[in-house]
Amino acid sequence: MDEETRRPERFPCGRVVCARCETAAEGDTAPVTWLCSVEDGSRLYFCDTCARLHIRAIESRLDSLWW
Ligand SMILES: [Zn+2]
Repeated sequence: MDEETRRPERFPCGRVVCARCETAAEGDTAPVTWLCSVEDGSRLYFCDTCARLHIRAIESRLDSLWW
């Protein structure tokens, strides 16, 4: 029963939440429309709405602190 230890996509709370607006994903993994950004070694997810709004900042590799 080591199920819990090999799910790197999962947050400790068991849900994927948008790092910006805190919208929770419907499933327990990020939808394909969501955007995944790695900042300071940790994985952040952004919902499709936030991803669209901030795609330019994300593409220029700015940390979300700068948004
Ligand atoms: Zn969002």
